[in-house]
Order: sequence, then C-alpha cells, then structure tokens
Amino acid sequence: MSDASELPDSQEEEEVSLEPEDQSDDSSGEEAAGDTEMDFLRNLFSSTLGLGTTEKVLDDLTLEGVAQYIKSGKCKNILCMVGAGISTSAGIPDFRSPGTGLYANLQKYNLPHPEAIFQIDYFKKHPEPFFALAKELYPGQFKPTICHYFMKMLKDKGLLKRCYTQNIDTLERVAGLEGDDLIEAHGTFYTSHCVSFCCRQEYNLDWMKEKIFSDDIPRCDKCSSLVKPDIVFFGESLPVRFFTSMKMDFPRCDLLIVMGTSLQVQPFAGLVGRVSKSCPRLLINMEKAGQADPLFGLLGFGGGMDFDSDKAYRDVAHISTCDEGCLALADLLGWKVELEEMVKQDHAKIDSQDQKEKASEDSKAAAKTSSASVAPEPEKKEE
Ligand SMILES: [Zn+2]
Repeated sequence: MSDASELPDSQEEEEVSLEPEDQSDDSSGEEAAGDTEMDFLRNLFSSTLGLGTTEKVLDDLTLEGVAQYIKSGKCKNILCMVGAGISTSAGIPDFRSPGTGLYANLQKYNLPHPEAIFQIDYFKKHPEPFFALAKELYPGQFKPTICHYFMKMLKDKGLLKRCYTQNIDTLERVAGLEGDDLIEAHGTFYTSHCVSFCCRQEYNLDWMKEKIFSDDIPRCDKCSSLVKPDIVFFGESLPVRFFTSMKMDFPRCDLLIVMGTSLQVQPFAGLVGRVSKSCPRLLINMEKAGQADPLFGLLGFGGGMDFDSDKAYRDVAHISTCDEGCLALADLLGWKVELEEMVKQDHAKIDSQDQKEKASEDSKAAAKTSSASVAPEPEKKEE
C-alpha cells in the first residue's frame, strides 16, 4: 500500500493487496476478515432459516439454459468477471501469468526474481525493466475482441450491471464500456500518475506511450518524480471502487458471467462467492476454474463453483475460447448477426483511425526529412 491519498477518509475497507498466484491460497484466508465473517454469518442464517436457499433458476446447466434464462426477462442485472483470456485473441499477451514465455524473457533484466518487475518497491528503485517490458509488450493496435463487444451488447440491451476486469489493456473502454460500467480491479494503462504523494499529477495514455517508445523513463513534468501507469503492482492496494462496488453489485446479481480467467488471483477470484446462493454462474473458459475446495465445501463456506457434482444446480461451464463462447451464446439469444455487425463496424472504424494516425505520422516524418534535405543541402562541388 503505497498510496494513502487514494483511500477515502473513512477508511472502512480492509487493505487487500494483489497477490501473485502462488500465494493465492494463503491470501484467500486473510481476505477482508470482517466481510468473510459477515458472509459466513449471512450464509449460516440463510441456510438455517431456509432463506436464499439453493433455488434452481436454470432449467438446464448448459449455455442453452443460460440463454433461456436471459430471454425470460427475469435476468436484469448481469455481472461479468473477465481476465486475460478475453484479450488473447486481440494479440495481447497475458501480462502476469507464468507460462506465457513472458517471465522467461525477463532474464536479461537481471531481476532478483521474475515477479520483481511488477513489485512496487522494486519499481521505485529500478523502473527501467518495467518500462522496457512495457515497450516490448505494447499492443500495436487496440482492437477489442468479440467477447468485449458481447459485453457492450449486454450494456446496450440494458442487461449489464457492471464488468469487473483484471485486464489492464483498456480494451473494455475501446469497445465502449465506460466509467460506471467498469471496475478495473487491477488498474489500467489508460491513465498514469506521478508517484509522489504530494503531487499525483495525472498523465494520459498518449503521453505515456510517447515516453515508453522514446526509451525515456517517464518523469513528472511538475516535480520530476517517476510516473507510473495506474496498474496495480504487487504490494499495492486494489482501487477503492473495487471494494465499494462489489458490496453493492454482487448480492443483487441475477447472472454472473466469468470469462477468460482461471480465478487464481485473490481477492478477485473470491468474488464468485459473493452472489446469492440462487444466482446462476456461467464460466466461459478454456478449462474449468473456481471449483470449490472440497475441504471448505464441507465446512459450508467458500462458495466455489460446482459444475459436475450431484448437487450442482446453478454453475455452467462452457469450455471454449471466450469469443466462441460469446458467439454461441449470442446465437442462442438471437443476437449473433447484430454482434458480428457491431464487431465489423467498430473494427473498420479503428482501422481507419489507425490509418489516419499513421498517415499523419508519416507526413510529419516526411516533412522533417524533406525540410532536412532542403535546409542543409550539401554544396555542390564544381569539378
Ligand atoms: Zn509530480
């Protein structure tokens, strides 16, 4: 927790910082102890009194069952929880997860250990590796995927309560989710701030991009302190909005759609247990994830996913890419043509903007070279 200025005065939230995956088991136990206790009591009361019981909302634990439920009109507050898997088809590498080859690439930076590159204390002393990596991984184009547009479509149809994303690539914003629609749990590259407590000057993506690509370590124009993209590093707290919104959103959720995440980073992963007991949960992912720990399952808390047991009654796993899963669901809802059209039109718009930008950069570059070639024209030597 490096930044007290981001917290509200009445600091009622637990400070829960982002943990690397291998520590997630430990941190889940520590997660906002007060809340967990309340959830536990709530669950205990509701099961004792028969409130909020395991009512079966879906006729079928399939994508068809989910589509039917959405079409029934009873499902008005959809929450999406998304991770790196929704952006891989956009060519954006999974920034944090080991096994993507990313960590293997870090050897040249002489880090004490690979995660150091995302650790706030290390960054403040040695910002160079992070910015070198940011340059290497900077997406050539910010083009959202079918999955991103599916969420935009949920929004347009008045069904999306909010999207909770772990991604920092800003593609949700590019697809048209904005401000209130979005909780960027692990922060975003979209904005940056001066790290100095007394300054906190904000910078935008263009400013940061220019610094990154000119191999400058970004420093504040006002106070010369480091400037850091607003992504949450290990050792930093999650944005306050994450905690305040989650308390309002999850108990009221009618359908939780989890996409492209293996649900291993806390406290994000624990969100699946915060919806009501009857709320259906759809996972669209390349593998099953978020299943209940058998031990905690016996003890009655946890709230992990149960796709396969005899007692399964609300969790649906659709094993596919996020794009395929969203297209299939859109098809069942009768939205497929509309979704494909939205993707086509928006991608065309992005392409034409890119071309315009490129053309103006090219003409700037051309102007430079031509003026350069005009001005110091080498004198012609008479032979
Ligand atoms: Zn500053």
